[in-house]
Amino acid sequence: MPTPLESQRRRYETTDKKCPACGYVDEDGNWKSRTDGGRIVYRHVCPSCKASREHTFSLK
Ligand SMILES: [Zn+2]
Repeated sequence: MPTPLESQRRRYETTDKKCPACGYVDEDGNWKSRTDGGRIVYRHVCPSCKASREHTFSLK
């Protein structure tokens, strides 16, 4: 069973592929995650225009 965080990440990788800045669709869904202990941050950098997007979740 995937953890909730893994399924959340998978959701972005599979559904949030299109860059809102330029419309590029990143089929690889290159979301990176990092955590500082209290939060987890998912970040995506568009390979076309380099615009970055972030989604932040509290772990509490
Ligand atoms: Zn873009």
